[in-house]
Amino acid sequence: PIRVRFAPSPTGPLHIGGVRTALFNYLFAKKNNGVFFLRIEDTDQNRFVPGAEEYIMEALEWLGIAPDETIGKNEKFGPYKQSERKHLYQQYADELINSGNAYYAFDTAEALDLHRKQHEEQGKTFIYNWHNREKLDTSLVISAEESAKRIAAGEDYVIRFKTPVDETLYLKDIIRGEVKFETNLLDDKVLFKSDGMPTYHLANIVDDHLMETSHVIRGEEWLPSMPLHVLLYRAFGWEAPEFAHLPLILKPIGNGKLSKRDGDKLGFPVFPLEWKTAEGVSSGYREKGFFPEAVVNFLALLGWNDGTEQELFSLEELVQKFDLNRVHKAGAKFDPEKNKWFNHQYLVKQNDEDLAKAFAPIVADKGIDSYELAKLEKIVSLIKERANFVSEFWDLSDFFFVAPISYDEKARKNWKEETPTLMQELISVLGEITDFTSLNIETIVKDWMTKNEIGMGKVMQPFRLSLVGALKGPHLFDIVELIGKEETIQRIEKAID
Ligand code: GLU
Repeated sequence: PIRVRFAPSPTGPLHIGGVRTALFNYLFAKKNNGVFFLRIEDTDQNRFVPGAEEYIMEALEWLGIAPDETIGKNEKFGPYKQSERKHLYQQYADELINSGNAYYAFDTAEALDLHRKQHEEQGKTFIYNWHNREKLDTSLVISAEESAKRIAAGEDYVIRFKTPVDETLYLKDIIRGEVKFETNLLDDKVLFKSDGMPTYHLANIVDDHLMETSHVIRGEEWLPSMPLHVLLYRAFGWEAPEFAHLPLILKPIGNGKLSKRDGDKLGFPVFPLEWKTAEGVSSGYREKGFFPEAVVNFLALLGWNDGTEQELFSLEELVQKFDLNRVHKAGAKFDPEKNKWFNHQYLVKQNDEDLAKAFAPIVADKGIDSYELAKLEKIVSLIKERANFVSEFWDLSDFFFVAPISYDEKARKNWKEETPTLMQELISVLGEITDFTSLNIETIVKDWMTKNEIGMGKVMQPFRLSLVGALKGPHLFDIVELIGKEETIQRIEKAID
């Protein structure tokens, strides 16, 4: 059975790259009738950030990609939080010691620094592995007896993986194909520390095994860890899951990985939800007014497409069409402008009633309290084509609620001597109309202009300016109908006053 996981470390808010990893895992699971689970990897307690775990859950919930199993939900292989699985890991570290696949090491930070420096001076990279230690400095190789003595004496130790020597590994990555690694170039990574905590590597492998993970789908930054992970599965005698490393998400301008700083600098969110710290607030997609469907849609296209030109996909459609074999190797450029375009597509698809309800509190905030929802719906239907976000509605529609207090200067200067007279006549024409609906008003006003041989621009421009304050906005007669006869006439009178 297919079982995939999202395994974030709660070191802060989830950024957009993490969300993309979660989404691809979700899509892969659902496509294959599998299980998507969330495991919190909090073994590094120095990097623990309060609130981050709740944030991660809430973000997935908001996006509509909540896990099937996690803390407090279908805990089939629980606990789903590594700090609560602490008791499990020691035995696995011991098992590797006993099978000769791991060893105790007692190096102080200073000793390691010294070695690193010595290597640098000789123009070599310091690779900490058993092979090198034996070859270069036998004094570093410690016998089992000596290790036991030093541990008994209370010395701090770590358990390191004993990377096999002289092997070339040809590993399979679903996205990258065959990837080659030389074991002699790998560090003997720390698996377990004397404080009783495992490192990421050990806990991750043990848990993926115990939780029956079938596929590891994660960011490209973990590709260098793949050989160690595969070797760990081998050392335990476990079957390894399949691996798929997702492409990097690149900055919109220039090269390199998208960072939080890019967002701050260029003014776009890099987090799904707002994140508040003592230093300030980092904006989130939700608070910026993005629809979760739009975020899911643009994230899905960061590194994947279905092989056609199609860009708009619902979550259900993504589930049907998603295919790991169609994920690209090359980094995917993040495009904030395109993200707004996606939001626009979802905005215009919303029904007017929902949009009106979302707009209502903004209108109320402006001190407007007497309007009907039906009117708001009408207004929203007239302006939504021009908006990417509900938050832009007010600026696109304020003239429906309040008379202009100033007029666009350039347009006002274009008024002719005859304009006030023409506007007076227009007022009389409007005053006579009983069926005050857009099309009827338009027909009557245009008939009057034709009969009297009045040029279109001569009436329509000052008419619009009187109502809107500028030469912008939706179809003029729709505005006229919505603000009503009395208000229309008042605004024209005020404009020619
Ligand atoms: N805890 C790791 C992270 O923060 C998980 C990496 C993996 O998926 O193996 O991304």
